[in-house]
Amino acid sequence: MRITLEELELHPVSVSKTYSPGALDYHGAEFRQTAPLKVDATADLRGAEIHVRGHVRTSLEASCDRCLGPVVIPVERDFDLFYRPVSTIARAEEVELPQDELDVGFFSGDGIEFEDVVTEQVILSVPMKLVCKTDCRGLCPVCGSNLNVGKCGCPPTAEEISPFSSLRKS
Ligand SMILES: [Zn+2]
Ligand SMILES: [Zn+2]
Repeated sequence: MRITLEELELHPVSVSKTYSPGALDYHGAEFRQTAPLKVDATADLRGAEIHVRGHVRTSLEASCDRCLGPVVIPVERDFDLFYRPVSTIARAEEVELPQDELDVGFFSGDGIEFEDVVTEQVILSVPMKLVCKTDCRGLCPVCGSNLNVGKCGCPPTAEEISPFSSLRKS
């Protein structure tokens, strides 16, 4: 769905949408959407900028970085964004952005693609480090057993003996 300048010039645009899993393209991200995504947003024009404010809610699932087991990522996120015409980039670099305007993006053409706004917010809510639990023991580097399930028969590695192993592994 496209939100166009033409429409925004007439009135603010409110959007309430539900996207089922598979409906949005996350551009090869390493997670999958496992619940319907609900988003409520309002867009209005602020000078030449498009202002979009709203809330997105869904649930994702990814693989644990250590043991490859499933990690559930609940998404519950407010957003408040400004999109500038791409033609102003050169000028914008010289202007220092006020603190409260740090969430600034750019758009080209006649408006913004609403789904792009939504997928970006979902991607931003995924933590950099994905672990099923903070003390996940991961897989044995020798035999590949899941060490959360139990100890395997392999002799302890140097890493396991070191008291700092948990810091280095993370
Ligand atoms: Zn894990
Ligand atoms: Zn092992």
